[in-house]
Amino acid sequence: MSLREWAPVRKFFAHLERCDGEMAEQIAVWGRCARCGGKLHRADFPRVPRGGAGLLSGSVRRVSFCCAARECRRRFTPPSFRFADRKWYLLFVVVVAAALGPAGAEHVTGRVRVAGASPALRSVRRWQRGYRHEFSASAAWQWLRGRLPEPPAAAELPQGLLRCVQQHGRGSPEATIGETINLLVHAGLTSAVGHFGGQITIRRDWHC
Ligand SMILES: [Zn+2]
Repeated sequence: MSLREWAPVRKFFAHLERCDGEMAEQIAVWGRCARCGGKLHRADFPRVPRGGAGLLSGSVRRVSFCCAARECRRRFTPPSFRFADRKWYLLFVVVVAAALGPAGAEHVTGRVRVAGASPALRSVRRWQRGYRHEFSASAAWQWLRGRLPEPPAAAELPQGLLRCVQQHGRGSPEATIGETINLLVHAGLTSAVGHFGGQITIRRDWHC
């Protein structure tokens, strides 16, 4: 099966949910408020994501924290294995659609059918620009690219990252997508939470 034909199963999504849960447990133990150093309390919030038909059961909540100090209350929302920041679609839809969607300027209407979803091409183009311009300039990407055997150029994101993972991993679409998400979360967390003193370790291997 190719990446283009791949569609997520419940087990895949349940695994992403478990990864979010494990990371949250570690942050609850080790995490401290970036502003005042106070302890962090769980303050998850509900999400109604797109792209999860047949995968979601019951209410879906994104992991988030709030500083316990009454005079501070600063919120900290770590990167998620399931959700993409400020996007309606689930992260795996965003990553796969941005990787496989057409990049030419002539494509502005229609939909991209990938990962069991069909986001609008207009959205996919926006996600592609986000990876190539914003993500490529981020501390997360600087951290991650230094750890890849053959880091792709910014203009090749995110498909170059998937290709890199595919070449050095076990090759199945599910393992490739899962490991790519794992790297993105790890990079985002590491660059966002330096104040945790490197205490957080999240899954480095994808097991499904
Ligand atoms: Zn605080």
